[in-house]
Amino acid sequence: GTASAAEQIAAIEAHAAHNYHPLEVVIARGEGAWVTDVDGRRYLDCLAAYSAVNFGHGHPALLAAAHEQLDRLTLTSRAFHHDRMAEFVTELAALAGKDVVVPMNTGAEAVETAIKVARKHASQVRGIAVPEIVVASGNFHGRTTTIVSFSDDALAREGYGPFTPGFVTVPYGDADALAAALTENTAAVLLESIQGEAGVVVPPPDYFARVRAVTAERGVLLIADEIQSGLARTGETFAISHDGVEPDMYLLGKALGGGIVPVSAVVGDADVLGVLTPGTHGSTFGGNPLAAAVATAVVRLLRTGEYQERSRVLGEQLHTGLHALVGHGVSAVRGRGLWAGVDIDPAVGTARDVALRLMARGVLAKDTHTRTLRLAPPLVVSADEVKWLLEQLREALEG
Ligand code: PLP
Repeated sequence: GTASAAEQIAAIEAHAAHNYHPLEVVIARGEGAWVTDVDGRRYLDCLAAYSAVNFGHGHPALLAAAHEQLDRLTLTSRAFHHDRMAEFVTELAALAGKDVVVPMNTGAEAVETAIKVARKHASQVRGIAVPEIVVASGNFHGRTTTIVSFSDDALAREGYGPFTPGFVTVPYGDADALAAALTENTAAVLLESIQGEAGVVVPPPDYFARVRAVTAERGVLLIADEIQSGLARTGETFAISHDGVEPDMYLLGKALGGGIVPVSAVVGDADVLGVLTPGTHGSTFGGNPLAAAVATAVVRLLRTGEYQERSRVLGEQLHTGLHALVGHGVSAVRGRGLWAGVDIDPAVGTARDVALRLMARGVLAKDTHTRTLRLAPPLVVSADEVKWLLEQLREALEG
């Protein structure tokens, strides 16, 4: 199109529902860690589509897999088998050290799938009549009616009731509170390995080991939502692996689709996912040939360990640089690998003010909860680009 950025934004405002408040930039192209707007301005992408673009825009291996599949076969539904499914489920299960994959499309669908599986497992295997699922304060697991039922974000819930019962909330990071909340009706504990939307909140070092011990002892399933934290973002394939913990189910999404197609999955053991039988769950697009081809290529990138290593090394550079800004417009920094929540000193302005200043300097980043700026560049970012990002942030904080 030849419409100006302002004209396009006006049309979007007029005809797209206002459930987002985007920065005023209209992106037209992306390559690696960079995007270009309709006026030819380049920006370092420090959101990476909430970590769905971990491998960068237009990764050659992922594009090749998509192009090849696009010309051959894109959708069959699950009424028939297709020839990209075997490698996808086999290789993804192996990556996670599990047996079985449930392919879905969006993150919220993976969460919904795990909730259904946990409830059915509780009822069929443990004889629990009214299963409960324990969740954490500050959680973000998606936007469906059931998922917002256990959100504690008023904006996410207001006006959307009545809500789905069966959830119990405990403070995130408090293993004693979690243990105390388990009852004979507890089916599962559902936790983000690191809370992304809450502001990149990393739990205490022994938290997941203690949660795993108490859930295993009580026969309660542990579900790790790795939709944002997983797939190399933190320097490990799964963020929960930093704590040496293996959950019963991994929830994956975002980067699993390589930034090309929506792909999500629940990955778990056969005894748990075995509660799903024909007719009891499904999705028209789940595991489609195009999604399976791209996700298989993603799994193969992850198998090299290259992206995990980049996140570890460059993440150390990022966090060292960010910690040096504490007391200079930054009040706190959290995170792991190439993922940071940066609390902005209110004297400097809001996190959105800083995001706007960064945009003027060629950096796209997003605020969360007024005070926190989150940084999550694609893992293909270079050391020089991380250094440049830190300079832009330092100058943006100075005003
Ligand atoms: N779970 C976590 C931890 C997320 O961060 C998100 C999205 O931000 C979701 C689930 C929901 O994913 P989707 O937006 O694809 O439904």
